[in-house]
Amino acid sequence: HAKSMGRNKIVIFHQSMEESIKRKEKLKVELRQAINQKDLFLVYQPQFDTRTNSFRGCEALVRWDHRQEHIIFPLEFIPIAEESGSIIDLGEYVLNEACEQAMQWRDQFKQDFYVTINLSAKQIAHKSLIPYIDKMIKRTGIPVELIELEVTESMLMMDMDRAVEVLSILKAKGIKISLDDFGTGYSSLSYLKKLPLDKLKIDKSFVNDIPGDKDSEAIAKTIISMANQLGLEVVAEGIENARQVKFFTEHGCYLFQGHYFSPPCRAKELIKQFDNIIPFDKSSLLSS
Ligand code: C2E
Ligand code: MG
Ligand code: MG
Ligand code: MG
Repeated sequence: HAKSMGRNKIVIFHQSMEESIKRKEKLKVELRQAINQKDLFLVYQPQFDTRTNSFRGCEALVRWDHRQEHIIFPLEFIPIAEESGSIIDLGEYVLNEACEQAMQWRDQFKQDFYVTINLSAKQIAHKSLIPYIDKMIKRTGIPVELIELEVTESMLMMDMDRAVEVLSILKAKGIKISLDDFGTGYSSLSYLKKLPLDKLKIDKSFVNDIPGDKDSEAIAKTIISMANQLGLEVVAEGIENARQVKFFTEHGCYLFQGHYFSPPCRAKELIKQFDNIIPFDKSSLLSS
């Protein structure tokens, strides 16, 4: 019986592999349509600064409102978009939408409020990126310093020289560059020297285990002190409680992103999140 069970298992495994390949192919086709039909939308997650007790800007995160399913998340469809090449159109949609939103915030808030946008390796490798950003800046009239682009170590590995070249051109225009998920890629400290960076984002996998896990604490402290010495801003991402805020603030990191301050939400709901939290009560950091 063991033998036949084993055989069944193999059959089941085959079917599920086949199903997941089929689903991927289906999503690939549907994603192209979704981009054209504007079934994608952006949610925004604010970054909070404990030095000024205020929100400083937002990260734009893409969602797919699939007509037959629920909302689909980027971890499922970004790899598909990269494989099929539709990431270029998708990326342009995100850039455009996020910058138009930043211009609206500028009118509403009467103060600087940046937007940070995730780039994919394919976008950096594509010749259209810089001309597209130039056109978009012209058309929207957005002040360049309100735009921040997020890249990851793993995506830069593909072609480091090209990445340095493209990011340097963008940086020279006044656009900010942020290194996302820091500490999870094949970190090489030489990247920090080569890349024209403004900001490091400490990955949530370290933040998760803080406070408590001595290794994560040591890694976080090292990243913060390195960022400070290199003159880079540092953000802790995936912040879920006040104890994490306390730890990071005590060790020289004052910028935060995570559900503790606000989940990612549509621009309309974001204003409500601000009302909930401003002014942020510093005493909650001391009492816990
Ligand atoms: P990321 O850039 O590191 O974004 C942070 C992710 O952490 C987001 O997931 C966010 O919803 C989640 N997050 C925020 N606060 C918390 C928290 O307190 N706890 C936990 N556990 N998670 C939190 P999301 O939106 O599913 O995005 C996943 C990844 O997809 C992003 O990681 C980014 O790499 C990619 N992505 C998202 N939007 C875009 C886009 O427009 N273009 C490209 N190329 N990639 C994107
Ligand atoms: Mg990001
Ligand atoms: Mg991240
Ligand atoms: Mg990521």
